[in-house]
Amino acid sequence: MVRTAVLALGSNMGDRMATLQGAVDALVGPGAAPGLRAAAVSPVYETAPVGGPEQGPYLNAVLVADCTLAPHELLARTQEVEKRFHRVREVRWGPRTLDVDIIALGDELSGDPDLTLPHPRAHERAFVLRPWADADPGAVLPGRGPVADLLAAVADQGADRRDDLERVRPGRGA
Ligand code: ATP
Ligand code: CA
Ligand code: CA
Repeated sequence: MVRTAVLALGSNMGDRMATLQGAVDALVGPGAAPGLRAAAVSPVYETAPVGGPEQGPYLNAVLVADCTLAPHELLARTQEVEKRFHRVREVRWGPRTLDVDIIALGDELSGDPDLTLPHPRAHERAFVLRPWADADPGAVLPGRGPVADLLAAVADQGADRRDDLERVRPGRGA
């Protein structure tokens, strides 16, 4: 079964662009484990951190991928990639080299605290919705509605599209 996985990537420590590209390469690049194939990668946005301690701005991007993995397999994959980038997680919602959130996996609904699907806060976050709408203008967040409509409700949240930065290249995974 092939489903659409929507992954939100964020980085606010170190070389943020290199981390985003490295994460996409690790997930869907040549040599990546099978089960995920890039369908689209959004432009990169710069956003102010929401909540947590004082910290630097994030670079965010959304990867839309064709996925044959089960939900827990996809979570294991994303956590492995986070680990590879030496993610340090000392403070909740604190700064991190890499955060990979699973926004949705097809129409899968799950209330499991270890993997809640769709992601319980995605609908209220411009830094997720804006790049996602760029990558897939017709996208629908299961249980919430069209991403374009959700985006209108968070129009007050800043998200600067960084077209001056090189775009993250979609890899070609198995
Ligand atoms: P937020 O979830 O508000 O974006 P965060 O990304 O900073 O906050 P983390 O510390 O990265 O939170 O993750 C905490 C836990 O959330 C992880 O251990 C993971 O098991 C769980 N989790 C639940 N649902 C999801 C999901 N859809 N995607 C990724 N992790 C999830
Ligand atoms: Ca997150
Ligand atoms: Ca996370």
